[in-house]
Amino acid sequence: MTEITEYLIIGNSAGGIGAAEAIREVDRAGSIAIVSDEPYPAYSRPLISEYLVSRCPLERMLFRPPDFYQQHGIQAILGRRVARLDAGRQTISLEDGSTLAWKKLLLATGGQPVVPNIEGVGLQGVFTFTTLDDARAIDQFLRPYRRKTRAVVIGGGLIGVSVSEALVKRGVEVTIVEMKERLLNTILDAEASALVEPALKASGVEVVTGRTVGEVGSYLRGEATGVTLDDSRPLPCEVVVVAIGVQPRLELVRDSGIRTGRGIVVDRHMQTSLEGVYACGDVAEAYDFVSGENRLTPVWPNAYLGGRTAGFNMAGVPAEYPGGTAMNALKYFGVNIVSAGMVAPPDDSYEIVRARSGGSYRKVVLKDGLIAGFVFSGELEKSGIIYHLMKDRVNVGAFQQALVAADFGLASLPPEIWRARLAVPASIAPASPAEPVKAGIK
Ligand SMILES: Cc1cc2nc3c(=O)[nH]c(=O)nc-3n(C[C@H](O)[C@H](O)[C@H](O)COP(=O)(O)OP(=O)(O)OC[C@H]3O[C@@H](n4cnc5c(N)ncnc54)[C@H](O)[C@@H]3O)c2cc1C
Repeated sequence: MTEITEYLIIGNSAGGIGAAEAIREVDRAGSIAIVSDEPYPAYSRPLISEYLVSRCPLERMLFRPPDFYQQHGIQAILGRRVARLDAGRQTISLEDGSTLAWKKLLLATGGQPVVPNIEGVGLQGVFTFTTLDDARAIDQFLRPYRRKTRAVVIGGGLIGVSVSEALVKRGVEVTIVEMKERLLNTILDAEASALVEPALKASGVEVVTGRTVGEVGSYLRGEATGVTLDDSRPLPCEVVVVAIGVQPRLELVRDSGIRTGRGIVVDRHMQTSLEGVYACGDVAEAYDFVSGENRLTPVWPNAYLGGRTAGFNMAGVPAEYPGGTAMNALKYFGVNIVSAGMVAPPDDSYEIVRARSGGSYRKVVLKDGLIAGFVFSGELEKSGIIYHLMKDRVNVGAFQQALVAADFGLASLPPEIWRARLAVPASIAPASPAEPVKAGIK
């Protein structure tokens, strides 16, 4: 007979670990199993570029100690893919045919890279860049090359820019090919994008915008030797990195009856449309406090916080996800930029306040006195205050111009607002199982 696990978690990353920790805070005894097809203890995904730069040891990439699973009485089933989910029977089947049954299930399956259906993407030398194994594969591939290596990175978003910086640090000549007219176009406005491009060029990166790759070509036994752009321009290279986007990994929920949009739709308890089945992180469409709607917001803190919320609810302690929003802090090629929420408003119903001074740029987008998004470059310390004003839905209409002043700080806010900012936060620990908790980040 298949043994029933109290709490079954698929995905051993920000979301899965957040959930396991929350469960253990309120239930010391219930059985927890975490399954992942990646073979490593939970590591920080954003650090894979560090691995590519310097092959930093795995221990330095782990965001929990290696004995975390043992300490918390968690069965870690690593390096094994879940092939099927049977929602009716409440079981999953692993690739090797073994079966696990659950009482509560969390889908923290994250995202997977989008790979275009173009000729040559299966050739040697073509990579994606979302896992430690991807970084290891690129590293292995680069090692035998003594002469100058050239890489084409397809996609000028966050992952494309991040892998480009790592490759440059490895001495590789990089060309980024971006289909839109500017880099980082989904997370930055035009002015902030314009700050990044010269920094990349100064580091020797060639940037081709408004074009895409039509095919990857080969003159050698199955190895990529270059790409051809959609205007027929050839770009010789030995390495191609496909970084055109990441999409929710939904393979397990297809035909399961669980409601999906672009991701798995969850309520404020992170529960899916199926009772007892939860989802969080990059795979989930969860509440966005800026738009007030469910959206994909694929960043690490949201995954962890969503995981904690799911974990408490799975263990029977009501908790509400406070919401997340798109948020990115970039530190590439010597340029520091933070962006969050909506940076390029879709119509005139939004107001914009902005300022430039020295090397810094500050822009805040507002709707009806509430902050809808912002971009800060250069001096970033004060952006944390803006983020909290946005998250707490504070009406800033009366002092909105002060938000982008060079000397902006807590003292720029009306006293009743900054006093509240300095208040000691309430404990996130539940006083009793019946009391709803705020699933805060520890
Ligand atoms: C290169 C890079 C840089 C990034 N930088 C930042 C950053 O600076 N700041 C930031 O906030 N965010 C960053 N992110 C995004 C951040 O890493 C993600 O938001 C976060 O990892 C999402 O966590 P998650 O738990 O939802 O899923 P993931 O981290 O994607 O983990 C999901 C896990 O589930 C496993 N899995 C999926 N399906 C199955 C299955 N069927 N069977 C078994 N296992 C399965 C996957 O293999 C994976 O291990 C970056 C991402 C990348 C790729």
